[in-house]
This record gives sequence, structure tokens and C-alpha cells, in this order.
Amino acid sequence: MSDPIEKIIFDEKVIHERIDKIVEKIAVDYENKDLVIIGILKGSFIFLADLVRSMFRYKLNPQVDFMILSSYGSSTIPSTMIKIERDVSVDLEGKTVLVVDDILDTGRTMQYVMERLRWLEPAMVKTCVLLDKPTRRKVDIHADYVGFEVGDRFVVGYGLDYDGYYRDRPYIAVLEESPDETSKHE
Ligand code: 5GP
Ligand code: MG
Repeated sequence: MSDPIEKIIFDEKVIHERIDKIVEKIAVDYENKDLVIIGILKGSFIFLADLVRSMFRYKLNPQVDFMILSSYGSSTIPSTMIKIERDVSVDLEGKTVLVVDDILDTGRTMQYVMERLRWLEPAMVKTCVLLDKPTRRKVDIHADYVGFEVGDRFVVGYGLDYDGYYRDRPYIAVLEESPDETSKHE
């Protein structure tokens, strides 16, 4: 796909309004708790940054840590093999944890993270994703806080990449072939 066209499905304003709404709920559920937020890199970095800044209004005073996971396979077909490249480094025993990821697709990444975190004996673990693709699910898992549901389409922007690019976009978009490309196939 050369020079694809980006079709915006959620713009900057819509994303920020939705984040503020999610944070309102999180603030109630996590009031007076010892909160640790764990971002799953790389995809969650922009969402997490906006999420914690929105949370500041409620003085939840979280610790923030990251896990880096890698999966084998091409970027458009997430594979089943997941490996921890960087593990949690904050003590989670007795803490209330919020795992933040960009998108819940097959659910395998989140399932893997939840299994790993159980060993660290947190008091509670909830999950927050910006995007959810429920029709793609391969394992029985759901997120406690969801930004938007999307269909079975590959999305980019706001932290999500295509071959390492597009993470910088302040919006979420789908990539479509440019008209030139389309006509070549006809
Ligand atoms: P899982 O299938 O394990 O739920 O999701 C694995 C990872 O695949 C996500 O964290 C995300 O990094 C990536 N992924 C899934 N769907 C998409 C998508 O539509 N766009 C992009 N850029 N990444 C995706
Ligand atoms: Mg990811």
C-alpha cells in the first residue's frame, strides 16, 4: 500500500471528551486507593499520557509503570506468540492496578498481562483500553473501561502504528488505498 489515505474515525476533540468521561468513572472506582497504572508499550503511550493528565483533576496520585511486550508476526496480523521485553518494576503487592492498552483485539495480549500480574499479588486489577474490537476476540476477556468500539478494521494514530509509523497522529484513522492504487487494480 503506497501513500494510503488516512480516513479519520475519531478526531482529537472526540477522543479527549471520551477520555474525560472514562476518567470520571475511574476516579469513583479508585478513590482512596493505592493506584498503579501499567501502560503496555508501545501502543498505549499517548493514550496513557492523556489519561493520567485528565486524572490529575481527581488527585488520584498514581504511580506509573510500563511493560513492553512483543508479539511475533506482521503488524497487521497480530500473532499468538507474546514475549515480555520489559517487566513491571514497581511492587504491586496489595496495590490497585489499572492496566492501560491501546486496543483489545484478539485479547491475547491482555490475557497474557493479567496472568503475569496475578503472580505479583495486587489487591485488584482492572483494564482500560482506548479501542475495543469485540468481533475479533479469541479469548474470553473484556476491558473494564473502553473508549470506543471499532469493527474489524486496522486502525492507526494516537499511538497505534502501521509498520512503526502513524503513532504521532492526534486522531484515530483507518488507512485506505489512494485512488491511483485502486484504479491500478481495476
Ligand atoms: P491482541 O490481539 O493481543 O488483543 O492485540 C495485540 C496488539 O495488536 C494490540 O495491543 C495492538 O498493538 C495491535 N493491534 C490490534 N489491532 C490493531 C489495529 O487495528 N491497529 C494497530 N495499529 N494495532 C493493532
Ligand atoms: Mg499493543
